[in-house]
Amino acid sequence: MSLPDPPLPAARMGPEIDSLCEELDLATLAAELDRKPRFPREEFRRLAERGLLGLSLPTRDGGRGLSAAETGAALYRMAYRSGATAFAKLMLQPEFSSVLASHGSEALRSDYFAPLCRGELLIGNQLTEPTAGSGLRELAMEARPDGPNGYRLRGTKSQAAFAADAEAAIVYARVPREPRTSGLSAFLVPQDRAGIERRVVDDLGERWMRRGSVRYDNVPIDAALRIGEEGKALEYVLPELTRERGLLALIYLGVARRSLEETRAHVGARRVSGHPLSDRQAVAFPLVEDWVDGDAATLYARRVLERYDAREPVEAEAAMAKSLSVRVALRTLDHAVQFHGGRGYSNELPFERRWRDVRSGDLAHGSGEVLHATAQRALWPRAPALE
Ligand SMILES: Cc1cc2nc3c(=O)[nH]c(=O)nc-3n(C[C@H](O)[C@H](O)[C@H](O)COP(=O)(O)OP(=O)(O)OC[C@H]3O[C@@H](n4cnc5c(N)ncnc54)[C@H](O)[C@@H]3O)c2cc1C
Repeated sequence: MSLPDPPLPAARMGPEIDSLCEELDLATLAAELDRKPRFPREEFRRLAERGLLGLSLPTRDGGRGLSAAETGAALYRMAYRSGATAFAKLMLQPEFSSVLASHGSEALRSDYFAPLCRGELLIGNQLTEPTAGSGLRELAMEARPDGPNGYRLRGTKSQAAFAADAEAAIVYARVPREPRTSGLSAFLVPQDRAGIERRVVDDLGERWMRRGSVRYDNVPIDAALRIGEEGKALEYVLPELTRERGLLALIYLGVARRSLEETRAHVGARRVSGHPLSDRQAVAFPLVEDWVDGDAATLYARRVLERYDAREPVEAEAAMAKSLSVRVALRTLDHAVQFHGGRGYSNELPFERRWRDVRSGDLAHGSGEVLHATAQRALWPRAPALE
């Protein structure tokens, strides 16, 4: 008997996802992108051609108009079939920039957001700075007013995905005005402007993102590049984080499920001292737990997305769905490494890479601690917010 299906509806775009995984051999490509990191531009375009980018966004914005729950099932399928986080995260790139679709001008949407949805252009998101990550109080990047119709950007962004490869980035900065505006403002900044310097760092996992820092040295930008109103950017971006976190949870769980199935087959076949490893309770019991924990976390994430679709407030639950999924997936991947023995620890097999990739999930899009603080405030509203 094989493992029962995971507790998700059949993915709406399942056949397109399965055929693209085969055609582009995405499982092999994931290992190559880890060894020689690069942004998979051609594959990004092919995902768009198959209608697999921005699944949860409205069709008028270039998306496919699926519900968040349907999108989650499709992302799980992609992560499971490709055995990697990378291609499911590529499918989510338009969602990661959806402040541009919801608050950008007509011109910004047609010049940047529409090409992003067609897989022709990559947009990064730059919030974190060397002095500010989890808390934003220390955020120092300034967009200083420069004449009636412009700003000058000064400061350094760090840890940003696609630091080297994005054609444009949504950059969050403060506009110093009197009386003082307290909030952040967002700008769509083409990354080829004079005065911008980009530097890549080596990462533990998700190496294809080529993260790094971007320094802005008094870079002039036109007011037309501002997204929405001054000081409102956090209001725009926070609600989108809820959907993102619920969706990311299912990506990590798809990778975990694939690894669990492979480990289950391996320990059933591998004989040690005359017995299959699966006869040993020390091996079998942790895998039984991975199966049930994976299904439980999948059901939880699915429910959170269904409630999100029903417009219920699920900020805390989405935060914890991501946190829970990373925990469950990392444990499953650790068992995959362990029970494949010495080869499991090597890059002959995919498990160590999957572990490194999924490990990023406890930092990016809200660290584990920040997510717990979000849930803490749902239980005790007076608990202090991270600012
Ligand atoms: C793969 C990856 C991709 C990323 N992509 C981007 C990107 O595209 N754009 C971008 O802007 N950033 C990106 N980041 C950066 C990420 O958003 C930050 O790493 C994250 O917000 C944490 O900020 P920090 O690194 O400054 O850590 P810090 O804020 O210094 O925190 C360090 C640790 O302390 C914990 N901590 C902080 N405050 C508290 C508290 N009050 N209570 C308890 N614990 C606390 C944090 O959770 C963390 O574990 C990415 C990170 C990774 C790993």
